[in-house]
Amino acid sequence: MKKHNFNPGPAILPDYTYEKSIEAIKDFNNSGLSILSISHRSKDFDAVMDKAVTTTKQLLDIPEGYSVIFLGGGATTQFFTIPYNFLGKKAAYLDTGTWALGGIKEAKLYGEVDVVASSKDKNYSYIPRNYTIPTDADYFEICSNNTIEGTEILEDYDSPVPLIADMSSDIFSRPVDVSKYVMIFGGAQKNFAPAGVTIVIIKDSFLDHVVRPVPTMCDYKVHIEKNSMKNTPPVFPIYAALMTMEWIVDSGGVKEMEKRAIARSDKVYAEIERNKLFAPNVSDPADRSRMNITFNLLPEYKELEGAFVDFTKERGLVGIKGHRSVGGFRASCYNALPMESVDALIAAMKDFEKKI
Ligand SMILES: *Cc1c(COP(=O)(O)O)cnc(C)c1O
Repeated sequence: MKKHNFNPGPAILPDYTYEKSIEAIKDFNNSGLSILSISHRSKDFDAVMDKAVTTTKQLLDIPEGYSVIFLGGGATTQFFTIPYNFLGKKAAYLDTGTWALGGIKEAKLYGEVDVVASSKDKNYSYIPRNYTIPTDADYFEICSNNTIEGTEILEDYDSPVPLIADMSSDIFSRPVDVSKYVMIFGGAQKNFAPAGVTIVIIKDSFLDHVVRPVPTMCDYKVHIEKNSMKNTPPVFPIYAALMTMEWIVDSGGVKEMEKRAIARSDKVYAEIERNKLFAPNVSDPADRSRMNITFNLLPEYKELEGAFVDFTKERGLVGIKGHRSVGGFRASCYNALPMESVDALIAAMKDFEKKI
């Protein structure tokens, strides 16, 4: 049966990435060796790393004065590496859910944390607005797409202090004004690579703001100087990431990814609203994630939750069950998800409604 992959992460990648990865695992660049079994210091891999950096810069139109590095440790490692480097006295954070809280918790180890606003009062179902960012904060950190709760910040904020964003689950899904950020980071396994690599885009001049001596592996300057090869980098995930980036370029860039994301998510949200059984988790359309669409059965149909998940599984729809902390359903619609899969989900929702 054809599978429709709505997994939240690790998640769907383009067929191009799978095919090129299989080729490279068998025989990388006609070397007679697998990409899994070559030195990261080989010329061929050097070229992959350089191209991954330049293609990231091309895709996001990154201005001069920024560096791109590929690290291990996941986005979660950035949660402590950022305050370790940059939190001297106080940092500001926006509390929009589970992953934002991940950063807040780690920052508290290093200094004062000003949570400027929180949407906890409504189970993180909206993006807070109209708060004050303290001008004496060392930085302001946000999570642009809340993978679990299904909200997204779709604008690039003006911040009076250096702005940092966790874009783990929405990077490369829209054009971003990188000049508004000192740092953008993300675990790549949501939207562009297999698990194992973390992307960090950092403004070089922000590195003058490091507040304490840091261990080598937490030192962004070292990783930049060594071209992400201070130690052995995640070789294969970086290769696969590059393949996805090439696919994005060939498909028309992040502008086209945004167009597709809007088309997919508009369709799904429209069906959630039309269908008598379902309601969206996020009521304000302006706050709805295009990547992770969260929805629920209306209270009177609540006992059908397991039945709907089973119904989708029977049709080859994978990963529709919501995160255990939120419940309900989540359709993750990342860059590589074809419209055909969106249509299959919508057909399942309609057919399930007819059965009730
Ligand atoms: C998945 C996720 C993380 C955690 O990423 P890891 O790479 O597993 O550490 C952090 N932030 C967001 C927004 C995520 O979706």
